[in-house]
Amino acid sequence: MEKEQIAFFDAKPYDKEWFDKYNTDYEIIYYDGRLRPQNAKLAEGCKAVCAFVNDEINEKTIDILSRLEVEVILLRCAGYNNVSVEEAKKRGIKVLRVPDYSPYAVAEHTMGLILALNRKIPRAYIRTRDFNFSLNGLTGFDLHGKTAGVIGTGKIGRVFIDICKGFGMEIIAFDPKPADIDGVRYVSKEELFKRSDIISLHCPLTKETNYMINDEALRLMKKNALIVNTSRGRLIDTEALLIALNEKRIGGAALDVYEEESGLFFEDNSDRIVTDEVISLLVSRPNVIITSHQAFLTEEALSNIAQITLKNFDDFLAGNSLENEVK
Ligand code: NAD
Repeated sequence: MEKEQIAFFDAKPYDKEWFDKYNTDYEIIYYDGRLRPQNAKLAEGCKAVCAFVNDEINEKTIDILSRLEVEVILLRCAGYNNVSVEEAKKRGIKVLRVPDYSPYAVAEHTMGLILALNRKIPRAYIRTRDFNFSLNGLTGFDLHGKTAGVIGTGKIGRVFIDICKGFGMEIIAFDPKPADIDGVRYVSKEELFKRSDIISLHCPLTKETNYMINDEALRLMKKNALIVNTSRGRLIDTEALLIALNEKRIGGAALDVYEEESGLFFEDNSDRIVTDEVISLLVSRPNVIITSHQAFLTEEALSNIAQITLKNFDDFLAGNSLENEVK
């Protein structure tokens, strides 16, 4: 019997490694390019497409997929803000995702970014490689006794809270659905902005959270506050952030995601002129650290992502109930 085919977009070597390890039942056709209207036709003959965070699964893409009789979109990620779920529903295409693969991967990277930013570890690393052992300009602050403001206390937010507790930090949080978490006090967003030494974003990108960190929010923050975003780029109005950094109204920012990351992140752009002036200015600031949407990138997470994505397709084909369906 012929194997069902999956058109796998935006495929990277680490994706292939883990999907090939666990796949026995399907023919996976890997494409380097992102899924978007221009190349959606590559899915011809496939019952499923497998997509990632920056694929453009808008109405146009879904229209093409629907004409090609694709039946299911297998997202190998948790967020689905890049998918027109309404349109998929209208066309009878199911959207399945991986809601939980390793909150530890993202939370640990978040703390890694904070330590690197606060203690200026990347700057120190670059200096010592050049035998510059000066400490000037490398002063940080103790995390112990400081206040961490956590926005979104779901799976990742809670692991991050546990890590902050280990550092002896006081935790305040904002979430429209507060939970009962030991040692955490929920406050208004405004109070969180005013009181936090570190502000960490762990909520999804929605209409309500879009540009949650805007000029108004930035003006409420402490002068030495550090902002860390490992969720989605559009939670922050990046131009407003750049202005706040220029005017020294906040202490620094660590960004694993960027609102214009599509087409830039996950790729080696070192051989071309990057014309995005906002990111060009950000990377040049000594108090900004950018990583390329890598918070998820651990062996455990990649292994879980591959297994759960394949199981989602198994369940779809078997007509089982779809626990990971985006509704
Ligand atoms: P989750 O669904 O477990 O938790 C999200 C929390 O955000 C929930 O408690 C929810 O009530 C809260 N929330 C919803 N609207 C909010 C609002 N307006 N203000 C404040 N909080 C709000 O999700 P999770 O697994 O913890 O993931 C959080 C986010 O992390 C995802 O949405 C995704 O964007 C991002 N993420 C990033 C990476 C990465 O590699 N950088 C990897 C995985 C997930």
